[in-house]
Amino acid sequence: MKLRPVDFATDGVFVCGLAHYPKPIDESITQAQAAAARAATVLSRKTIEVEGVVSAVDQNLCRGCGLCVEACPYGAPELVELSEGVTVSQIKEALCKGCGACAVACPTGAAGIRHFTDHEVLTMVEAALCE
Ligand code: SF4
Ligand code: SF4
Repeated sequence: MKLRPVDFATDGVFVCGLAHYPKPIDESITQAQAAAARAATVLSRKTIEVEGVVSAVDQNLCRGCGLCVEACPYGAPELVELSEGVTVSQIKEALCKGCGACAVACPTGAAGIRHFTDHEVLTMVEAALCE
């Protein structure tokens, strides 16, 4: 609330006025101008870089249980039908924040964070302990 006061949790979405909480009209107008200015910073760019550390699903391990969809606060995973009777999770990388909640929720180990697999993290821990 104090930092980036008109930004929403989802990138590219901004909130102002009564959508925030009841407030005087002059404050609503000021917030609306702030939201418009923040939106302009996005719309004025030709390209946008997104986070590289995002979730990835190994579709060979995925059972399509949907727990990652429920766990994600940003709506990044979705269930898609690969073929008849085969449903798997697929990550919309632009929405993913790399928080890891889906990896924790996944019962099969199909969902994981790129560059932070169990093997990579354990290797880093071993290397740190060796020093
Ligand atoms: S890492 Fe976080 S933001 Fe990305 S898909 Fe998983 S739960 Fe959603
Ligand atoms: S929680 Fe794991 S097994 Fe279930 S749909 Fe998501 S990636 Fe697939």
